[in-house]
Amino acid sequence: MGTYLKKQADYVIVGSGPGGATVARQLAKAGKKVILLERGKDHRGKWYYGTHLGCLLYCDKMGMLMTEEGLQIVRGIMTGGSTNLYCGCASPPPAWLKNRYKINLDSFVKQTIDELKVAPLARPLWGRATRRVHEAAGELGYEWEAQPKFMDVSRGEPFDCGAKCMLGCRCGAKWTANEYVDEAVQAGCELLTGMHVKEVLVNNGEAQGVVASVSGGKGTLRVEAPTVILAAGGIGSPVILQHSGVPEAGQGMTMDTTVMVCGESRDEGMHLDPPMAVSFCDDKNGYMLSTLIDPWLLYPLIHTLHGPRNPLRFLRYGKTLGIMIKLKDEISGGITMEGKISKPLTDQDRWRLNHASNLARRILIRAGCKPDSVFVGPLRGTHPGGTIRIGELLTTQMETPIQGLYVSDASCFPEALDRPTVLTLIALSKRLAKHLLGKDKPKAAGTGAKKKAAPRKAARKAKKKGPDKPATPAGKTASDDSTA
Ligand SMILES: Cc1cc2nc3c(=O)[nH]c(=O)nc-3n(C[C@H](O)[C@H](O)[C@H](O)COP(=O)(O)OP(=O)(O)OC[C@H]3O[C@@H](n4cnc5c(N)ncnc54)[C@H](O)[C@@H]3O)c2cc1C
Repeated sequence: MGTYLKKQADYVIVGSGPGGATVARQLAKAGKKVILLERGKDHRGKWYYGTHLGCLLYCDKMGMLMTEEGLQIVRGIMTGGSTNLYCGCASPPPAWLKNRYKINLDSFVKQTIDELKVAPLARPLWGRATRRVHEAAGELGYEWEAQPKFMDVSRGEPFDCGAKCMLGCRCGAKWTANEYVDEAVQAGCELLTGMHVKEVLVNNGEAQGVVASVSGGKGTLRVEAPTVILAAGGIGSPVILQHSGVPEAGQGMTMDTTVMVCGESRDEGMHLDPPMAVSFCDDKNGYMLSTLIDPWLLYPLIHTLHGPRNPLRFLRYGKTLGIMIKLKDEISGGITMEGKISKPLTDQDRWRLNHASNLARRILIRAGCKPDSVFVGPLRGTHPGGTIRIGELLTTQMETPIQGLYVSDASCFPEALDRPTVLTLIALSKRLAKHLLGKDKPKAAGTGAKKKAAPRKAARKAKKKGPDKPATPAGKTASDDSTA
């Protein structure tokens, strides 16, 4: 096949979600020649952005991406990745990342919180239905907390949030990774959209660039760079890595498997409230709860897939309250080189789900839902990850067995986070950028010059490291990473 286009850079980054956008921004601001390749397009500013129609356009398989077991996965294919669809929630990285894997993100997290003004919404903005659930949980002895948000209410003119936030923010209050993409481009990064990266160019165990197919069958793009960063998300990156000669990628997966427990109340429902304004983490039993309901059209569609009686629930949509469960699920299933996904629930996952569903039901009833109206919705996944795990295929600096090839997205999570991922991803990506900038100056793009370290040795080193023996260089402690 003839090459359509050939380019060279210091760094090529694949995918512009929070992982890729952050690395691109940091490296471009440091004056590096960066090319950012994104499979989707930039749909912001289009009349359909933030509508149900738009959501179909920029969701993978129009939102109907299913695992073999029937779990529905939602992921965005456009600049900014899934942050176009996210609820704007921020959670600090779990403590185990520092304790078990010696990855200290404290300073990167603090820097990001300050920079993006991450803070909870003021109580009057939660909405009445959310406040009822918050109070009901408190009466039962569960102190829910106001969820920190990547939302700056003053940017919304006026602030106009609700379940529709998950279709794409139209009022402008929600930060998305598009903003880091914009900053990267302003700093000189070349953004190319409609580029579906297929594989990494590898020579003698070293990354040398990537090959992408240009959307619309327009040909092939080849970008040569001595350092490649995969940030195509928990589903995209392992497939690219498999096509690049690492068949172990994609074996096992985390999802923070999600279900919604909903019930019909006598008063107004939750659809006009900002999603996930308050939440509760039960780390002992491995789940998170938060207030959430689907946007009005998705609600009946999703439930239609799971039984003929369910669409009728739509008639009571305006009075429905919802609690979302996110499980800390075990690593299971995986993704094949053809993109087939399996994510079975383990016995522990089922037990956790049942535990969480019981609590959600009690809270909804206390908040005024009729007991016989409460139901548990279908299984979903909005956090596909853990497919190229730190401590197994990746070093703690997120390098793969292929020298010069890094991963900076949800693939690298060593365990399910069971909480919002984006703050952790931004912090991990800032840390990676700092590491890359601290290394010796990369060789000139396209020269094909060899680096000193033996790639096979690096691969063996990476494989030896299990989760209990994180790949921390000798003498290095968790605090060594802590300066942003
Ligand atoms: C409905 C919903 C609500 C959510 N709510 C929250 C929340 O409130 N808070 C939170 O922290 N998280 C939330 N999440 C999860 C969060 O959005 C994701 O975990 C996060 O965006 C993952 O970032 P990433 O960089 O790993 O990948 P992604 O965001 O998936 O970005 C990957 C990018 O790579 C591109 N790509 C894929 N394959 C290729 C390829 N082969 N070549 C080139 N480009 C490619 C994609 O188009 C995409 O732009 C939510 C997710 C969803 C779907």
